[in-house]
Amino acid sequence: MKYCDLILDNATIVTLDQDDRILTQHALIINENKIIDIIESTQAQKSYQAKEVYNLKNKILLPGFINMHTHIPMSYFKGLADDLPLQTWLEDYIWPNEAKHISKDFVYHASVHGIAELIKNGVTQFNDMYFIPEQTAKACIDTGIRANIGDIGLDFPMGDFHQPKSSFEQINILKEKFKDQQTLTFTLAPHAIYTCCKETLKKCRDIAQKENALIHIHLSETAFEVEQCIKEHNLKPIEYLNKIGLLCDRLTIAHGVHVDEKEMELLKKHNVSVCINTESNLKLASGFAPIKKYLEYEINLCIGTDSVASNNNLSIFDEMSLTAKLHKALNQDPTILPASDVLKMATLNAARALGAEDKFGSIEIGKIADLITLDTASIEAQPYYNPYSLIVYTLNTSAVSNVIIDGKFVLKEKQFLTINESKIIVNAKEYKLEV
Ligand SMILES: [Zn+2]
Repeated sequence: MKYCDLILDNATIVTLDQDDRILTQHALIINENKIIDIIESTQAQKSYQAKEVYNLKNKILLPGFINMHTHIPMSYFKGLADDLPLQTWLEDYIWPNEAKHISKDFVYHASVHGIAELIKNGVTQFNDMYFIPEQTAKACIDTGIRANIGDIGLDFPMGDFHQPKSSFEQINILKEKFKDQQTLTFTLAPHAIYTCCKETLKKCRDIAQKENALIHIHLSETAFEVEQCIKEHNLKPIEYLNKIGLLCDRLTIAHGVHVDEKEMELLKKHNVSVCINTESNLKLASGFAPIKKYLEYEINLCIGTDSVASNNNLSIFDEMSLTAKLHKALNQDPTILPASDVLKMATLNAARALGAEDKFGSIEIGKIADLITLDTASIEAQPYYNPYSLIVYTLNTSAVSNVIIDGKFVLKEKQFLTINESKIIVNAKEYKLEV
């Protein structure tokens, strides 16, 4: 008899392993923060003595979603300004309000709020860029979520909390300050090529190389951005980053809506990942990412929601379902983006983009236990034939019943264990801006 911390028993497990195995009546054995065994349920309690046995009858167990493009502390800007073009929305509404209202407390509480939404949506890890990142880091520690956090780089000051060209040095301060936190990774996050000059981007490249850091940037989001880049540099955005030397396998570009085939060759050559943000692109009318072409070039695609100010929710279910259906229609081809591939964009491909495919994104022995369960006992879930179809086309956030991060429950039977939900709602009302 071996000892373990947790047995998740009687599960239907969508493993997303190399053979895409779907296991029924199986148990997942977890010790500390790792998956140490996957065995038939009949054998689980004969082989292991656990501190806790949790029955997953009528539930699907799958890897937690990884939201690859967020600005989590923007929670209190949800619905502040809608139905506007990107530049007007940013320059006339978002930036002035950020400059005026953001403080350490604002970022902490807004982060906790955003993290609560992420957890309810089955997200176990996110890739964020924003101001005062140590406050988001603290919110992650307090709530138990895993995150990759970058101090957003902008060439102009913002309030009294952001000075231009100081962002990238933050990475060393943050790494030192939070060095004992294995659930946090710090990244470099230049906002965009229209807000960071060439010198800033070169500085980012140098620090990224020295620190072996992940990089996260908005790129080729609008046609206007591409036009400006050609006008200023006589290059398209990805060619421009290539010239600077920023393209590498640690780079994830958010959006990638206006990208041509020559640029895709560069993305493939340097193993750059692209984060698709369908709802944000639709709402801001930025366009449609060329997903079919990306797939032809075998570019690693993952999924993000962007902020609640431009989406306006953090639902990975919505992103998966809409992305799959939209691109079938756009290409007049219902066979592209099958449900299993879309689910991988939200899990395994994201882990690959983070250089952490050996730790996250699938349910395999040795990987970290970042997991979610979805209820299948409801009317809307029954009957089902194929779990991928159920997850991508049928279910939504309301099906998420348990969220386990780093081997620990943070949501159990739909109840938060690390978050005071009523306090979050009170704070949201208090922090709501006077407009
Ligand atoms: Zn964004």
